[in-house]
Amino acid sequence: MGIEFKVTKPIYDKSLAIEDWQDPKWQLRFSLKKKEDFARYFRLSKQEEEAFDKGSQFNVQTTPYYASLAKDHPEDPIRKIFMPNALELEDQFQRMLDPLDENNNRPSQRIIHRYPDRCLFLVTDYCNVYCRYCTRKHFTGKEQVFPKKDEYQSGLDYIRNTPKIREVILSGGDPLSLSDNRLEQVLKDLREIPHIEIIRIGSRIPVVNPFRITEELAKVLKKYKPVYLMTHFNHPREITRESAEALERIVDHGTPVFNQMVLLNGVNNHPAIIQALSRRLLYLRVKPYYMFQCDPSEGSDYLRTSIEDSLEIQKHLWGKVSGLMMPNYSIDIPGGGGKTSMVPNHQINHEGNTRTFKGFDGKIRQYISPSKQNIKKPMDVESYQQEWDLLNS
Ligand code: SF4
Repeated sequence: MGIEFKVTKPIYDKSLAIEDWQDPKWQLRFSLKKKEDFARYFRLSKQEEEAFDKGSQFNVQTTPYYASLAKDHPEDPIRKIFMPNALELEDQFQRMLDPLDENNNRPSQRIIHRYPDRCLFLVTDYCNVYCRYCTRKHFTGKEQVFPKKDEYQSGLDYIRNTPKIREVILSGGDPLSLSDNRLEQVLKDLREIPHIEIIRIGSRIPVVNPFRITEELAKVLKKYKPVYLMTHFNHPREITRESAEALERIVDHGTPVFNQMVLLNGVNNHPAIIQALSRRLLYLRVKPYYMFQCDPSEGSDYLRTSIEDSLEIQKHLWGKVSGLMMPNYSIDIPGGGGKTSMVPNHQINHEGNTRTFKGFDGKIRQYISPSKQNIKKPMDVESYQQEWDLLNS
């Protein structure tokens, strides 16, 4: 029988034709942006009203579909993701406009190049929903749907002239907010660069406007393979029948899908929720990949969990869910220090070749390593040395 997912219902007019509700363009046309749009469907709390009245520093927008997943309670997890809150104006701990120092790693207006073999190509700054915790508030939502011709060309030229880049991650904004034609042009241009092997697309569209994931789009991704889709589901309630079908459409066309989630305070920071999300995703052939600590972007303090809380969640999941279901808990070191994985340390002693561990079941066991003089270099390593040197250059 497997896992079943619920179909959404229109929150606007109950007599609305289902074809309209399932039209991705209708979803954008009738997006909720202003206080009065939200007030039609939600009893706004004092802090939510205040956020609208004072003017949020970050764009406000949600598709009606995504809004329909939220309950009329200010603490509802989905609602906390899209609804502005006056707490955004009151950071007490850390407040950075560009927490990953991306602006200092931008060799071209639309390129972020931090790691040697891969770079981000910011192909739009537009999103269907503006998540309150977004890490890229310094760029996202400035209404430049597609890069200007010279910016786009300069991004492509940078990638073409940097042979150590093997992987390009289309990002933004949300790349799947581009039309099929625009997206296909980007994929085609990248595939014409001989050293590009992998293309990744980071998108929250399957979560917030799954109707955009059409058969045609799935075919475009397949045509320019290998393309990997990185989705961004944060909560099991975001997986509906519609989003499940969207994911299956992509996977059925041979595009691998990985999910990156962010731990959010009062939204998903509990092991029961993470396991429920991971279980459902894996069932849909989506690998739970990363579980990120929320970056300290402007206005996100109230949505951030503590590292201690996150480690506790990870400790509870460790050993109880399969490795396939387990996302890697990781922190992006503020200021551009790159990612660091946080894993439970099971080692309790190290003497000579012997390391002693306490397993997830609380029992103590040992691993004895061969000595250093027994370790050999693989005989064919020279065949791969050039590739390795390029990466290190
Ligand atoms: S979809 Fe991604 S880029 Fe857009 S607002 Fe949300 S987190 Fe930021």
